[in-house]
Amino acid sequence: MADRYLNFTGTAPGRFLTRRLGLPQPAPLHRFSAERPRFEGKLLHLTAGEPAHREELGKLLAGTGLDVVSTAATASQAEHPVAAVVDATAVTGLDTLADVHAALHPVVRSLAAGGRVIVLGALPSPDDHHQAAAQQGLEGFVRSLGKEIGRGRTVNLVRVAGPVAGAESTLRFLLSPKSAYVSGQVIQVGATEGELTLPENWDRPLAGRTALVTGAARGIGEAVAETLVRDGAEVVLLDVPSAEADLAKVAERLGGRALPLDITAADAGERIAEFVPDGLDVLVHNAGITRDRRLANMPAERWSSVLEVNLASVLRTTDALLEAGAVRRGGSIVATASIAGIAGNTGQTNYAASKAGIVGLVRSLAPRAAAEHGVTVNAVAPGFIETKMTAAVPLFIREAGRRMNSLGQGGLPVDVAETTSWFASPGSGAVNGQVVRVCGQSLLGA
Ligand code: NAD
Repeated sequence: MADRYLNFTGTAPGRFLTRRLGLPQPAPLHRFSAERPRFEGKLLHLTAGEPAHREELGKLLAGTGLDVVSTAATASQAEHPVAAVVDATAVTGLDTLADVHAALHPVVRSLAAGGRVIVLGALPSPDDHHQAAAQQGLEGFVRSLGKEIGRGRTVNLVRVAGPVAGAESTLRFLLSPKSAYVSGQVIQVGATEGELTLPENWDRPLAGRTALVTGAARGIGEAVAETLVRDGAEVVLLDVPSAEADLAKVAERLGGRALPLDITAADAGERIAEFVPDGLDVLVHNAGITRDRRLANMPAERWSSVLEVNLASVLRTTDALLEAGAVRRGGSIVATASIAGIAGNTGQTNYAASKAGIVGLVRSLAPRAAAEHGVTVNAVAPGFIETKMTAAVPLFIREAGRRMNSLGQGGLPVDVAETTSWFASPGSGAVNGQVVRVCGQSLLGA
């Protein structure tokens, strides 16, 4: 559904009027396209304290194709850098925390529209409360800067809990147009490592891999399948038998295979394993439903149908496929949560319970799946995404959903798809047990 307000604010009279009236001014986002696949320009590599891996990180950053400027002296001369990466892993107290302010204060105003700020942090230490205070401080810093920076710019914190090499796929993702709607997030890399095999071709990291996407006949699932195909995967598209015609069309368009199957069937895991006898590398649990009612008006059927599709089937098929060895080593499982599961939402006790359940599943299973099966388990948590589902929301609530985030607009299905594909990349083996919100830094559940 067209966001007329966003279109209007992109015109000269629209800009003038919204500025005079103090209304939100969402900036058009630069998303990935074949014509403009990556950013071009300067990347400021800044530091706080004395990080040990300075050179290694510099090399990783150069891999983005951006022009890395690595000293503070030349940094301030760079005009409109497209990104600033502050390595704050060596921040151990308030003195070095002040270096983060000193590094970004002179350059933040000049950062290009749609640009990126990434702060690299370390895990807050359980043994050193001064270090922990300063590292936790970075979280508040990043979330606040994300709210004030404006002009389509995003700010994220990457906590490096293992070798910095494990952060490469994440840095490439965050420093690309693919992460346009991801802001205010804290992403940990390298705490529990899956298998890290860097892709030969970063533009097609999923080449030679097979992915299955549930709920792929339309909406976000269709976009996920399309993006995985763009990134080189062979796809199997699963949806309910009643959506078979739409599913077949999507499968034909993407050159994938359709599997009409209700994911709540008791034997769904076995049926999937039979359909892909050579196994899967990527399993995307995207199918989901809502049956909203306040708890006082919610019959048991509305509760159970939502829990069954959104959570029970995810638990069951994940168990069946892992036990059957149908998710190959080096593979990944990506589940779909929601900001409603994090923040809670009126009329959605069932839906929010199911989506919070996904968060619990991911956090608990991730370390064991990595250790026992060599598989990562992560979740995307979409915010307000422009789909048929949200087009049906009453106008006032829809407008509120669109504007109540730092980017002042709704996300697109492709934004969720890009995040899913980054999780699914073999380069993301050090990204495990993470729940990343694709919500433009929604005010809900921040
Ligand atoms: P959608 O309703 O457009 O698509 C969901 C798909 O899942 C449909 O094709 C449907 O047929 C399929 N499906 C439903 N039950 C199924 C079952 N039992 N077996 C197999 N397939 C089944 O929804 P969407 O907006 O694309 O959402 C996709 C996912 O993202 C869902 O998990 C949803 O909860 C989540 N999400 C969406 C938003 C949003 O703003 N659209 C926000 C947060 C989370």
